[in-house]
Amino acid sequence: MTKLTDLTIAEARAALEAGDTTAVALTEAHLAAVDAHEDLNAIITKTGERALEMARASDDRRKAGRRKAGRTRGALDGIPLAIKDLFCTEGVRTTAGSNILAPFVPPYESTVSANLWDAGAVMLGKANMDEFAMGSSNETSAFGGAVNPWTRAGDPETRLVPGGSSGGSAAAVAARLALGATGTDTGGSIRQPASFCGIVGLKPTYGRCSRWGIVAFASSLDQAGPMTRTVTDAALMLGAMAGHDPKDSTSAPVPVPDFAATVEQGIAGLTVGIPREYRPEEGLSPEIDAMWTRGMEMLRDAGARIVDISLPHTKVALATYYIIAPAEASSNLARYDGVRYGLRVVDEGDSLHDMYRKTRAAGFGTEVKRRILIGTYALSAGYYDAYYLKAQKVRSLIARDFRAAFDDGVDVILTPTTPSAAFPLGQEVTDPVTMYLNDVFTVPTSLAGLPGLSVPVALTGEGLPQGLQLIGRPFDEDTVLRAGRALEKAAAFTAKPTLLEG
Ligand code: GLN
Repeated sequence: MTKLTDLTIAEARAALEAGDTTAVALTEAHLAAVDAHEDLNAIITKTGERALEMARASDDRRKAGRRKAGRTRGALDGIPLAIKDLFCTEGVRTTAGSNILAPFVPPYESTVSANLWDAGAVMLGKANMDEFAMGSSNETSAFGGAVNPWTRAGDPETRLVPGGSSGGSAAAVAARLALGATGTDTGGSIRQPASFCGIVGLKPTYGRCSRWGIVAFASSLDQAGPMTRTVTDAALMLGAMAGHDPKDSTSAPVPVPDFAATVEQGIAGLTVGIPREYRPEEGLSPEIDAMWTRGMEMLRDAGARIVDISLPHTKVALATYYIIAPAEASSNLARYDGVRYGLRVVDEGDSLHDMYRKTRAAGFGTEVKRRILIGTYALSAGYYDAYYLKAQKVRSLIARDFRAAFDDGVDVILTPTTPSAAFPLGQEVTDPVTMYLNDVFTVPTSLAGLPGLSVPVALTGEGLPQGLQLIGRPFDEDTVLRAGRALEKAAAFTAKPTLLEG
């Protein structure tokens, strides 16, 4: 049989069902992999004992012929996963990648992780991430950057970033430390690291998954989603994560379809839109452009119709995002004041304001402080109309562009996921604007609340994975996943991360 850590979620489910392996064996194999790859710094809190306990319970259930009673009837029973450290996990330290939450042990479980445990999944540990999910390289983490398990061809020494903010999740899944991981995506944080690490990442429609118990960054954009090695696995995981939650008023009261049941249905007759604005004036890397064209051919060969579309406001999406996201962040992060959560820095005789100032100065990193400053500025009297209100108006126009394309009969939109492949650690972290450009292709989808899926398609000339993005109608993840599966089949991307060889 294939090595346990090389199985997909679908294969592991089948192996468990057939009695070829046990949840304990699967969990032990992954815990050993986590230990063997500490150099990747992908998992910042290991929960080995809890994992084995959950695995034993799963094996006991299976032996007794019992199924989990919940909605998904044990869809992931015995499957070991990593959880981005933005999801509150009851009794397990949850840091959001920040010093300010370093001592925080939540007394409650996020709805999405609770749904996963209800489906029988096993928690291996908490995955590294950019501080408060702000970043595109995982380098803003207070716990140090996670490392991409891929290296450039002919340059095995230079360590590359896994992307961000869900960099630990992506590195863990790519490096076979977990069968899947949760991520969150505010402007690209699931899709960009998935592309950088050669895995599948799905940002669902805003409202598909509950945000309850996920440390908030920008509440009108944040969305949880699966990071896996195959599209089918993403379908399986999303089915378990998603669903209406009365505790989150923005979670949508819509049924959760059986995504895995339709993922193989093919795309004959589907219309795929190609937005011309994703080929910017400054130019797209010729290599990525060629890969995009190949993706169009693959979908055409699978029976889809390819049409040219226009999303005219694409070029202002990034600027819009960098007003709205910091504005919401500055408001959400006001709660970290040394009084209620995590870190408190206070000296004898300090006033309340001294404590706020010292706690926030010591607790937040540079990027988080930058966002708070930008957001506070954009929301301040006198600038609110010029920046925040304007950005909200532009946001509506961006959403309207997408709606018009879908109203014209487009079923999914195909674009590159990122303008480049993974870059070396330390290369962009001192230049925020260059760093922000990583999200130029993922941010519009986030502003419009639409589902976006990144599928690994090929290696670049440097030997690094590169993904293409499929964008769909609201709550039409099934079509996005079907198209993703068609792309995955045609691309037949089987390369394994270089750091796993030898
Ligand atoms: N990289 C973007 C940012 O820094 C997106 C982050 C995210 O999606 N959480 O804001």
